[in-house]
Amino acid sequence: MTTTPLPAAPAAAREHDGDLAVDVTIIGAGPVGLYAAYYAGFRGMSAAVVEALDAPGGQISTLYPEKNVYDVAGFPAVSGRELVERLTTQARQFDQHAWLMGERAELLDREDDRWVITTSERRIRTTSIVVCAGIGSFVPRPLPACKAFLGRGVTYQVGDPAQHAGKDVVVVGGGDSAVDWALALADVARSVTLVHRRTHFRAHGHSLDLLRASSVRLLTEAEVSAAHGEDRVQSVEVTYPGADGPQTETIPCDLVVAALGFTANLGPLASWGMDLDGRAIRTDRFSATSLPGVFAAGDVSGFDGKASLIAVGFGEAATAINNAFIHAHPDASVSPGHSSDQAGGAR
Ligand SMILES: Cc1cc2nc3c(=O)[nH]c(=O)nc-3n(C[C@H](O)[C@H](O)[C@H](O)COP(=O)(O)OP(=O)(O)OC[C@H]3O[C@@H](n4cnc5c(N)ncnc54)[C@H](O)[C@@H]3O)c2cc1C
Repeated sequence: MTTTPLPAAPAAAREHDGDLAVDVTIIGAGPVGLYAAYYAGFRGMSAAVVEALDAPGGQISTLYPEKNVYDVAGFPAVSGRELVERLTTQARQFDQHAWLMGERAELLDREDDRWVITTSERRIRTTSIVVCAGIGSFVPRPLPACKAFLGRGVTYQVGDPAQHAGKDVVVVGGGDSAVDWALALADVARSVTLVHRRTHFRAHGHSLDLLRASSVRLLTEAEVSAAHGEDRVQSVEVTYPGADGPQTETIPCDLVVAALGFTANLGPLASWGMDLDGRAIRTDRFSATSLPGVFAAGDVSGFDGKASLIAVGFGEAATAINNAFIHAHPDASVSPGHSSDQAGGAR
């Protein structure tokens, strides 16, 4: 098989009548979208990477950054955080991409011979699209008692635990995320209290063993009923059963982590006209959807025999990008050639 020579100077993301204009738009910067962004650059395409969250990483960054992943090729064990960092570094080596974090893809239209995506911030004219939207955009389950302090000491995501060294932290929730955050913060915070409204936790047994052996204070059958503070949260009231009826305790804190889980759905993407298979976008062996020039990869794509795993999504991302390239250059080869033939992999 002959391979297409890689263009010497890839087309950069550019403006067209005030719109961003790119070869391919990648929707979602989870692990699969990040790898698609690398692959688009490797293939000499300019990409707009649209991500509804403020940072890349998708489910990994949102739900399990501190967990180890054992089934990604080449890594006997890698923390979610490190995997996302490495994927981001790999993707960012191409300076023709536009990274649009904190923007949700909302609408799809056809103008002339291009797709036009409207995000919450702008319009993007694009030859092709690779949808890597995973299980959809995440909406955190709220903690009503602390709503007034959201962003002022109350958060849904911890980020780097080291930022919270020396703080008094209250984590709320009973699933894997709550337990993992409590454990990660226990190493750096001054105190960690885990508040859960049931007695039973929905977390892995090993994590619970670590939790019970840790310095984390556990308050079960307990609810955060109020939050107090001036500019930032300074304390929460926690109500739990006492010997003589419900008891309320005021717990001083600098940080409240509301780890009550997320809901996710495809939202606007579900009405773009792609054939769906339940919650997934139906794709064929080219990773193509039912719309011309629109591909899908990762958890969002569905076909018989699909396993929703990072390793599977990486292969789909490469297939989707290579076929998006063919969509724009029908006479080219689907194979990009070997990255090992390129100095540094990037051109
Ligand atoms: C607790 C847990 C542990 C796991 N462990 C493993 C494991 O060990 N090995 C493994 O292979 N897999 C594991 N998985 C599954 C793995 O995380 C997923 O397969 C992987 O994240 C899918 O990647 P993705 O990029 O397709 O989607 P996602 O990670 O879901 O990322 C999709 C991104 O698209 C964004 N998005 C959605 N809609 C829009 C829109 N309209 N506009 C802009 N952005 C949008 C979302 O905000 C999100 O950031 C685990 C999952 C969980 C929850």
